Amino acid sequence: MARVELDGIGKRYENGFEAVETFSMDIACGEFVVLVGPSGCGKSTTLRMVAGLESITTGELRIDGRRVNELPPKARDIAMVFQSYALYPHMTAYDNLAFALTLQKVPKAEIRTRVLKVAEQLDITALLDRKPKAMSGGQRQRIAIGRAIIRKPKVFLFDEPLSNLDARLRLQMRVELSRLHRSQGATSLYVTHDQVEAMTLADRIVLLSAGKVQQIGPPLELYDRPANRFVATFIGSPGMNLMAGTVQDGAVLVAGSRLPLPPGTEVQTGQAVEVGIRPEHLSLHRAAKDAETSDAAAASGAPARIPATVELVEPMGNESYVHLRGEAGALVVRTVGSHAPVATGDAVWLGVDAPRLHVFDAADQRRR
Ligand code: ATP
Repeated sequence: MARVELDGIGKRYENGFEAVETFSMDIACGEFVVLVGPSGCGKSTTLRMVAGLESITTGELRIDGRRVNELPPKARDIAMVFQSYALYPHMTAYDNLAFALTLQKVPKAEIRTRVLKVAEQLDITALLDRKPKAMSGGQRQRIAIGRAIIRKPKVFLFDEPLSNLDARLRLQMRVELSRLHRSQGATSLYVTHDQVEAMTLADRIVLLSAGKVQQIGPPLELYDRPANRFVATFIGSPGMNLMAGTVQDGAVLVAGSRLPLPPGTEVQTGQAVEVGIRPEHLSLHRAAKDAETSDAAAASGAPARIPATVELVEPMGNESYVHLRGEAGALVVRTVGSHAPVATGDAVWLGVDAPRLHVFDAADQRRR
């Protein structure tokens, strides 16, 4: 277990392209940090700089207080798990697991004990005699993870390790990775483009866009208090609803509705903003008066409700996503239960859980 400090780390490729702008973060011993963001945002480049597979052009990388910028990957005591598994095809699972220990000249009996222990932890004991080609993708990825943990490295790096697996297996492996992390407590840096993986695995998330850090924090902090419009729309599924509006006397005017500003919002009358609201913080009503929360109406002196027409209902089994359109634009409401209370074509009023509104400046897109 180790502390990893990224102190103003940046990467400019030979062609002049800046893939990662100066990035600073202090990763504590045993912390699980997930780097997430859309394709091309610089996640893999950052991970590869930590691994030593890519040179660092600015800043300093320290592991347990020691500068490692110039150290080759082998000398950093890091284990990496790739999307492509990268197993030796001609070796059995046992030999794949044992390989790094054999190179380190660990005694045979100890290797055997460690292989069997890791195999048990990952539920792969029955596969030890098989070669990779005789295994499923999920089984291969378990061996790849086993090969990383058996070395007991200071730091684990994961580069999209679950993206080759089908949806069901991803979910299962995600839970297992979480469990494994809790039992091992190893410092981990994990790259994914999947915000659900980021939310469920991370102690802290780093959300990147175009080489720039957008926000660093615990998953629910990014969900509940996104620092800007990009974070608001990237984290959460279905995504946050956004509506253009103008600030007026403690409220935001949105297409004829007045939505009260949440406490602490720093805006000025006349300011152009975008208001965000998560799909679970809107409610569906047949009658306008039912959509008004009394608090919101009293605070703004005008109804905080949004008229809209149902365009589509997506039943998910345990919940439904109701897609609507109105003057405020396209909106999604999440309703609990197997049957949505509305159908395509219904005209409804949306109630707004006003304290849950998010306000972003229309120009710089930052939270206000
Ligand atoms: P993905 O999820 O698609 O793998 P990513 O977030 O991991 O994306 P990186 O692989 O880190 O993205 O790439 C970041 C940016 O740097 C991209 O725009 C990519 O085209 C660019 N890039 C990567 N390698 C090089 C290189 N050797 N020379 C120039 N630019 C590069």
